[in-house]
Amino acid sequence: RAKEIGNSYVSYSPEIGTLPERRFIMERDLRLALEREEFELYFQPQIDLQTGTLVGAEALIRWRHPEKGWILPEQFIPMAESTGLIVPIGAWVIRAACNQIKLWKDTGFDPIRLTVNVSVKQFERGRLTETFESSLIEYGVDGRFLEMEVTESVLLKHSLTADNLRDLLRLGIRTSIDDFGTGYSSLSSLKKLPVYKLKIDRSFVTPLQEDPDIRAITNAIITMAAALRLKTIAEGVETQEQFDILKKLGCDEIQGYYFSTPLPNLEFLKWVQDRKS
Ligand code: C2E
Ligand code: CA
Ligand code: CA
Ligand code: CA
Repeated sequence: RAKEIGNSYVSYSPEIGTLPERRFIMERDLRLALEREEFELYFQPQIDLQTGTLVGAEALIRWRHPEKGWILPEQFIPMAESTGLIVPIGAWVIRAACNQIKLWKDTGFDPIRLTVNVSVKQFERGRLTETFESSLIEYGVDGRFLEMEVTESVLLKHSLTADNLRDLLRLGIRTSIDDFGTGYSSLSSLKKLPVYKLKIDRSFVTPLQEDPDIRAITNAIITMAAALRLKTIAEGVETQEQFDILKKLGCDEIQGYYFSTPLPNLEFLKWVQDRKS
């Protein structure tokens, strides 16, 4: 996988012990990580395809482990979800995102939206609306600058979510469906929910150039989304060819290594500056 600037990532699972022992160690480490504030948000630019302007960023969590080094979310988010620690970690992400929006505003950076990933457990027992609301208030942030991404399975499994999404919308927070196309939801069932945008999964974007069937499916998703007044964003865009195809298909926004890997704040600001000049 492409290396992010200055970082190489290590794998996290402890090498020794039985499975329960390893789980125990990881859970303890995750709790400590929260206490010691070892998590950090990286930011990946989101670009308006038609105008080429920066419109937002996705916040992606990383863990700076004191001994091991940088750890990617795939190594610890599943454990955080199964232990329920994703609730406080997710709350930290929301607060850190609000803090960042405030800092960008204070430094005179043109405002962009910041998107956070929210997992199913946060809906189930996270008091999600309160977490968002208190973070917005704490940092004096307008909810329109904060977005939320959830996977489609979350929306279909939980009857609560429609109400949740409406509450968040009242705060100005819009919802995107992450990894769209990998689940089984129909566009019409999504339309019953207050959803704003579909994020077309990387598994559709990667083969766009070589595979005409994938191109046809992607075309259909974008066309139907537009008919239902849903925005579209494509993730995992790595090549000029993918960019050109998505632009021709009328996709609204894109995100991917073609523009930038996820970056820590200072590199992200530098990236924005360099692009302007
Ligand atoms: P995701 O939400 O689908 O995020 C996109 C992932 O694709 C990110 O991996 C990103 O670095 C990577 N990516 C972006 N552009 C490209 C590209 O052009 N090519 C390729 N090959 N990959 C690209 P990352 O940061 O390792 O995150 C992995 C997953 O971990 C995320 O998938 C998301 O499900 C989860 N995650 C990350 N941060 C959070 C968080 O704060 N909370 C929760 N609940 N989950 C998170
Ligand atoms: Ca995401
Ligand atoms: Ca995704
Ligand atoms: Ca994906």
